[in-house]
Amino acid sequence: MKKTMRTIIKREAKEGAELATREIPQITSNEVLVKVLATSICGTDYHIYSWDPWSQGRIKPPKVMGHEFAGEVVKVGEKVSKVKIGDIVSAETHIVCGKCELCLTGQAHICTETEILGVDTDGTFAEYVAIPEENAWVNDPSVPPEYLCIQEPLGNAVQTVLSGEIIGKTIAVVGCGPIGIMAVAVGKAVGAAKVIAIEVNEYRLNLAKEIGADVTINPLKEDVINRVHEETEGLGVDVVTEMSGSPIAIEQALKYIKLGGRMAMLGIPTEDVKMDVANGIVFKGIQIHGIVGRKMYDTWYQVKGLIASGNLNLDKLITHRFDLEDYEKGMELMKSGNCGKVVLFPNMK
Ligand SMILES: [Zn+2]
Ligand SMILES: [Zn+2]
Repeated sequence: MKKTMRTIIKREAKEGAELATREIPQITSNEVLVKVLATSICGTDYHIYSWDPWSQGRIKPPKVMGHEFAGEVVKVGEKVSKVKIGDIVSAETHIVCGKCELCLTGQAHICTETEILGVDTDGTFAEYVAIPEENAWVNDPSVPPEYLCIQEPLGNAVQTVLSGEIIGKTIAVVGCGPIGIMAVAVGKAVGAAKVIAIEVNEYRLNLAKEIGADVTINPLKEDVINRVHEETEGLGVDVVTEMSGSPIAIEQALKYIKLGGRMAMLGIPTEDVKMDVANGIVFKGIQIHGIVGRKMYDTWYQVKGLIASGNLNLDKLITHRFDLEDYEKGMELMKSGNCGKVVLFPNMK
């Protein structure tokens, strides 16, 4: 086996990234070495690339970027027992302690000691990556790697949409970036009565429509609160899935959510949000759920089942494919917002 590999690394504490040659990682007794077949760009990767305030506080360069992937296991540590050479795996990206109260009570996704692949450790924008066996999710090898690599963000969408009842409900997906469009697909696949997509970028709004949204609303062009009420017999939506992190969008959502409704929040605001707690939350009797990562591993089984069902518009979720070396084209698309999921292939050329 060769000794070095191509990677995309964040070398310095500043904007950008670079193509670099690195040693292929060594594995510990509990890890597996995986040859990356496909790796998708996450909003988090773009934050790290653009070196936003969150990244400045969290990332310690140099680091290989990336965390969403599918690849083939080429080497296993001596204590590895479940995963075999030749398996096609993806990774749960939360590397957890397995010992704290949260890990021991079925809530490992919010473990206090969580490290994230490609954020706190070297990631998957590379030809090879080393991951703990425990984090390796063994895939159905008949599914193409480009679909398998998006299971991690798809899991975010699944946990958000399915954090409460959904069959026969009206649902507003606020923010139709890659995870928002996945939420549209999941909502339709599991039997929501009506999926209303709300997004300011026209490309993404059209994508939401193609993927199956029943109603699309651009809040820059029409009154979103009135329109949602018109679409829901004046009552508002049963479920809001908040993917935008926009303070204005959150404030508006509390005005069009139905009494007794549920708001699942995945988008991360970068500033404090002003909310009418009395009239928007308390007197409406709504529930608010904060969504972090994916339930380990309940969400992964749901994702696997949904992919197997054939009911997700997977081909439409992926809009761009590039060789790893052309990662900058992908980052530019993420910046413009004119994309769904962008997938990189280490050996496309
Ligand atoms: Zn991600
Ligand atoms: Zn823990």
